[in-house]
Amino acid sequence: MRILVCGGAGYIGSNMTAMLTREGHKPVVFDNLSKGHRTAVKDVEFVQGDFGDLGFTVQTLKKYNIDAVMHFAAFIEVGESVTEPLRYYDNNVSKTRTLLEAMEKAGVEKFVFSSTAAVYGMPDTIPITEDVVKAPISPYGETKWAVERMCGFQSQTGRLRYAVLRYFNACGAGFNAALGEDHRPESHLIPLIIQAAMGKRDNIKIFGTDYPTEDGTCIRDYIHIEDLCKAHLLALKKLESESEQVYNLGNGTGYSVRQVIDTVRKISGKDFSVIETDRRPGDPPVLTADATKARTELGWTTDYPNLEAIVESAWKFHTDHPNGYES
Ligand code: UDP
Repeated sequence: MRILVCGGAGYIGSNMTAMLTREGHKPVVFDNLSKGHRTAVKDVEFVQGDFGDLGFTVQTLKKYNIDAVMHFAAFIEVGESVTEPLRYYDNNVSKTRTLLEAMEKAGVEKFVFSSTAAVYGMPDTIPITEDVVKAPISPYGETKWAVERMCGFQSQTGRLRYAVLRYFNACGAGFNAALGEDHRPESHLIPLIIQAAMGKRDNIKIFGTDYPTEDGTCIRDYIHIEDLCKAHLLALKKLESESEQVYNLGNGTGYSVRQVIDTVRKISGKDFSVIETDRRPGDPPVLTADATKARTELGWTTDYPNLEAIVESAWKFHTDHPNGYES
């Protein structure tokens, strides 16, 4: 299939693009490079453009005879979404609406959308199944949920077939650790700890040590980027027969912040300073996925369920690229 990868120069989009190529598809990366890295896009067609530009997006979809769109071009910082909600509604909702309109105009029906566990807010039941009540507690989560519902309504017209994939904590580096995390600014736990281990920052801060968990720190479900991308391929294929799909993507195993720090210490062989600070607003104590639905309906399996393997790949990416994609 010819697939437009919106946000294909970003962390998840670049790994997805590499996997699509490996599997014999023809991806076209569509990215405005506001966050992504041109050097993360290797040996595939690249179009610099904005998915909020209706005319140009329609033109691009037609020019490349696109069969399906995968959309990774969202803003993802929970904290920033609280201070700049309108920017998040603009990029994540309004522009995605434009993208869907462009698809309709170009006659492209298939859409795979990156969603998030943040749509669940502070769920009462753990692990989380897809039918748990959606109660986002940040503008970020709310914008993703709004797009999910927009897709639902649009698919009822018969003009959209879509798959929503709700990610837990995407991490690690794919394709022999060539494609990893390089967010600016960085806010994700694993790259931040690795930067501390590399001496690129003075310490790592633990946001809250008084949570109702065994060691007092938050528990998250860390899922390797290649495992995540594999599920997209399966969902894409299933769009042939299913017009609406929603899946959680996680391993179902939780690791605390302290466990992640210990794992980076072990893999890197480096010690670094750890500072215990206050909770970060909006962090639920435990988020783990029940991904039974993806496993049974898509036949999804994971190759890197183990945190050490995930951290090993991330460590390799960061030490091979000490200045990120600018290295
Ligand atoms: N976290 C932390 N220190 C940091 C960054 C993150 O203690 O410098 C914690 C954060 O509070 C959360 C977990 O690590 O419990 C994962 O955070 P991240 O931002 O990587 O992903 P999120 O769970 O917010 O999607």
